[in-house]
Amino acid sequence: MMKAKWMVACCTMLALHGVAGAQILVETESFIHRGGWVSDHQAFDKIQSAYLMAHGLGRVVEDAFTQVKFADAGDYHVYVSTYNWTSPWYQGEGPGAFQLKIDGETLANKLGTTGSSWGWQYAGQITLSAGEHEVRLHDLTGFNGRADAVYFTQQKEAPEADYHTFAAERCRLLGYTSPCEIPKADLVVVGGGIAGCTTALTAARYGLRVVIVDNLPWLGGNNALGVRASGLLYKNLYPQLGNVTCQVTGVALSAKNDPAAYQVDPTGFGDVKFAFYEQSLMRPTKESRGSDMLNAMRWLERQGVQPANRQERNMKTQEYLRRNAALKREQLLRDAGVQIYHNIHVFEVVREGSVITSVVGKCLKTGEEYRFSGTLFADCTGDGTVGYLAKADYRRGRESQAIAQEPSAPQREDYKMMGSTMQWYAFPRVDSGTFPKPEELPWAMQVDADYFIDRSSWAWWWETGLEIDNATEAELVRDNFLRAVFGNWAYLKNHLPKYANYRLDYLQHIAMKRESRRLLGDVILDETDILERVKFPDASFTTTWTMDLHYAKKDNATRYPGWEWITYCTHHKPLAKVDRYDVPYRVLYSRNIDNLFIGGRNMSVTHQALGTVRVQMTLGMAGEVTGMAAQICRKHGVYPRAVYERYLPELKKMMKRGAPLK
Ligand SMILES: Cc1cc2nc3c(=O)[nH]c(=O)nc-3n(C[C@H](O)[C@H](O)[C@H](O)COP(=O)(O)OP(=O)(O)OC[C@H]3O[C@@H](n4cnc5c(N)ncnc54)[C@H](O)[C@@H]3O)c2cc1C
Repeated sequence: MMKAKWMVACCTMLALHGVAGAQILVETESFIHRGGWVSDHQAFDKIQSAYLMAHGLGRVVEDAFTQVKFADAGDYHVYVSTYNWTSPWYQGEGPGAFQLKIDGETLANKLGTTGSSWGWQYAGQITLSAGEHEVRLHDLTGFNGRADAVYFTQQKEAPEADYHTFAAERCRLLGYTSPCEIPKADLVVVGGGIAGCTTALTAARYGLRVVIVDNLPWLGGNNALGVRASGLLYKNLYPQLGNVTCQVTGVALSAKNDPAAYQVDPTGFGDVKFAFYEQSLMRPTKESRGSDMLNAMRWLERQGVQPANRQERNMKTQEYLRRNAALKREQLLRDAGVQIYHNIHVFEVVREGSVITSVVGKCLKTGEEYRFSGTLFADCTGDGTVGYLAKADYRRGRESQAIAQEPSAPQREDYKMMGSTMQWYAFPRVDSGTFPKPEELPWAMQVDADYFIDRSSWAWWWETGLEIDNATEAELVRDNFLRAVFGNWAYLKNHLPKYANYRLDYLQHIAMKRESRRLLGDVILDETDILERVKFPDASFTTTWTMDLHYAKKDNATRYPGWEWITYCTHHKPLAKVDRYDVPYRVLYSRNIDNLFIGGRNMSVTHQALGTVRVQMTLGMAGEVTGMAAQICRKHGVYPRAVYERYLPELKKMMKRGAPLK
């Protein structure tokens, strides 16, 4: 078994920016001090870069700043890549205003309030001596102003407006000539959610040389952002599947096959959940009080956090437990020899015929590019990005009845899908301050006495992006969510006395996604397969969740057409009668890209069938099966389809035995 203790994180900060010559590009995400600005990659498809955002929930955030070295003294024109993020909804001046300061001097123009798409805005002119100068982003509103890069030039000429064309120039100005080459792996896993982690860990434990690449600073995807893991494991066709998933999600192996350890939904239609660390949070046992819970409390004390109420204590404790779980997850992968690359967004795929030879990603902290070469690839991005870039067959939205022949499919195909969510909370505070009135936020969701949502925290049914492409328009989907939270809160805070002493205190800025592209395999699992209990010869991992799909609530859809933000779910009752379903292996590889496994929520299922397989314990088990199949591929020098066609008995034997636990 390979045990190379190798963990690589893309986290090198450039200590001092700048290059010799008349043009200097400074990426804001590589600023040495971020102050209150947060890094965001959700516009990557548009601008080929991460950016910094003043995410202050309406309160001005601290400056972000860095040092820039200029080789030449002279007069510099300064441009900033930014725009008015509210322009899709509001034609007036946007709320994301900020300024650029150099050595304390504020440049002439206010930025971020105009422009209907990302572009280079002129900040002003300044005379600089050769040597080091301090560059600062100075927020003016706390309402999500954003800056991607700062460009200094001695000619008054903005950089190329097309960001895809500008990408090569970006690299050149930053001093990168070609991607950093990572030695070839047996398996390159892109996406570090639960599916990606179980895939990587399983394959590594069989001795494959595995690389995992993810664009977040931690492993776990939605799980690490706050989603609990559901799905029953004691009903498995192969009882040993799920062991690695338990390790990766932090579930005790002793609980795995004990029905009593699972929480079954009282609605009685087979809606089953297994909440791991939340369980100890809500109902602390003697055992849990002595471990994670106690540590969490001590951590809160050390941070000097005095929670306003039980909800805030729970939220903070969950944050701690999530962070802890992500660290433990990372340690597991590292111990198995997986090379981990954080903060890298994969945006390019190189193919020879129908075989992927490498993927290229960009470090979201430094702008440096990395090339990952491999024999096999697993797309666990949730967005099916690797497959999409490789021209793998895929679908998005709901299939029509003609295409899928499913009882619940609509007559016509459409782009309806489940949306994305971000957690938010308001807490009672002595210094709760004010929040603008609805009429002062004309760009926010317009909420009034006829329509408002009366709560001080998020719920799963706050969702946006129900018909918007969550892969390519992730920033737009997230921004619509911001509008909903700000608009609704403006009404609550100013019109409902019970919230007068509350402050909007927490709002995530990276959306947790439910649905995006689905890549197509040799089998496309659909609702009929499940309801008619079709038995496939390659039945592998087991799904137990109902077909749980979300759609916009009618009153919300009528009021906010195209920009809906409140949903309901349809738990498909017939699945309760079926009780469980064993999913075929053939949904786990692409039908037209030979060496591509497709895992997680972008596996080969219809929109309807996604409703059941999409929970994390199920997706984790699918990852284990992929890891086993990868081992068979390596052993026999074949690609994923041959595992079904020639080595199915071997896969079955492995599923029966279960993946190594160390
Ligand atoms: C609000 C909400 C509530 C939910 N409730 C539940 C629940 O109660 N129980 C349950 O089990 N499930 C629930 N789900 C569903 C579940 O969270 C997802 O289906 C599951 O987490 C998907 O796992 P994944 O590994 O396929 O994808 P993800 O968790 O989305 O992970 C994908 C990873 O890939 C990274 N990535 C994406 N693109 C790139 C790229 N180009 N380059 C590098 N990295 C990339 C992402 O940042 C992410 O880290 C919920 C989902 C949401 C949003």
